[in-house]
Amino acid sequence: MFNAKAFSAASPSSPLASTTIARRDPTENDVQIEILFCGVCHSDLHQVRDEWKSVMPTVYPCVPGHEIVGRVTKVGSAVSKFKAGDIAAVGCMVDSDGTCPECRRNLEQFCHNCTLTYNFPDKHTGGVTYGGYSDSVVVDQRFVLRVPPNLDLAGAAPLLCAGITTYSPLHHWGVTKGKKVGIVGLGGLGHMGVKFAHALGAHVVLFTTSPNKKDDALRLGADEVVVSRDANEVAKHAGSFDFILDAVSADHDVNSYIALLRVDGNLTLVGAPEKPFPVSAFNLIMGRRSLSGSAIGGIAETQEMLDFCGAHNITADVEVIPIQKINEAYERLLKADVKYRFSIDMASLKNS
Ligand code: NAP
Ligand code: ZN
Repeated sequence: MFNAKAFSAASPSSPLASTTIARRDPTENDVQIEILFCGVCHSDLHQVRDEWKSVMPTVYPCVPGHEIVGRVTKVGSAVSKFKAGDIAAVGCMVDSDGTCPECRRNLEQFCHNCTLTYNFPDKHTGGVTYGGYSDSVVVDQRFVLRVPPNLDLAGAAPLLCAGITTYSPLHHWGVTKGKKVGIVGLGGLGHMGVKFAHALGAHVVLFTTSPNKKDDALRLGADEVVVSRDANEVAKHAGSFDFILDAVSADHDVNSYIALLRVDGNLTLVGAPEKPFPVSAFNLIMGRRSLSGSAIGGIAETQEMLDFCGAHNITADVEVIPIQKINEAYERLLKADVKYRFSIDMASLKNS
């Protein structure tokens, strides 16, 4: 084991603060990475504040972070994919059993023995996994990804969660040229959803509660922007969407969006608000519409997404922050005030 610097939360109400954690020395299949940038996902905030206690209670101290880009510093003897000095990335998962039907379909995110990057039982240390708000991480090579060399690293980090979480359902539900696609919420996930849907050739409509994001949404690739607080403007799109991706982090009325789907249209939730919400049966019945969810994406699809971003020069729009600003960043996330992902410059951890 070796010591790593990190930022952790000690309880649901305490701010994140500097700490030291133990990481394992790399085993034969492991890659050790010096973390350069880590994106700040709203899931980090939900988890730190124990807002998901009914499904994934938080174990403290909690070191969040699952949008990791860094430089390989050491590899185990059986590692063939990476060598010291390579740029590498890690997303929301660090292990799975590799043998179950889900793993065999490259859907490791649905493996019952999947280990998430933080707050999950760590079979190596006996504690819980610690995420990317840290100077280093040690991960099995199967869960380490390659970053196309043309991508800016601060902007590439958020691809590891916000990127794959939006790319995967857009592909699963067949978004292509000629389809009308709605994206709800212009945050970290939503702005990647707009970029990908646009790159796939769809007609993209962004629904936002923030009128001041309109110009940005158009620049990011939306064809139309609707301020969702205006029910009349929303209703003008009734029955017209092939697909809607809902990336909202807080309570909101999903029924008004289901009503915008055409026959056989689908609304997929990727946002994960704390509380359950009511769904009108009639809204689904009338039009054979469907409501589904989606969680990140498998490792092969994550690599495919990164390569797609390399080919199309797509990264997240980021505000790079030092780790010392993380608590302020969380407060801004709660006000929907980020353009459009915070990316932590991990060099700042040396000063803590
Ligand atoms: P984020 O950057 O904070 O963006 C959320 C956006 O939702 C805000 O920018 C805002 O957009 C909108 N919003 C916020 N409060 C709202 C409200 N009360 N009513 C309506 N809209 C509201 O968050 P994120 O990192 O993109 O994450 C979004 C959600 O996805 C979180 O719940 C997160 O945990 C979840 N998530 C899920 C997965 C998965 O695998 N399914 C992966 C990652 C994250 P506007 O200002 O445009 O309205
Ligand atoms: Zn995330």
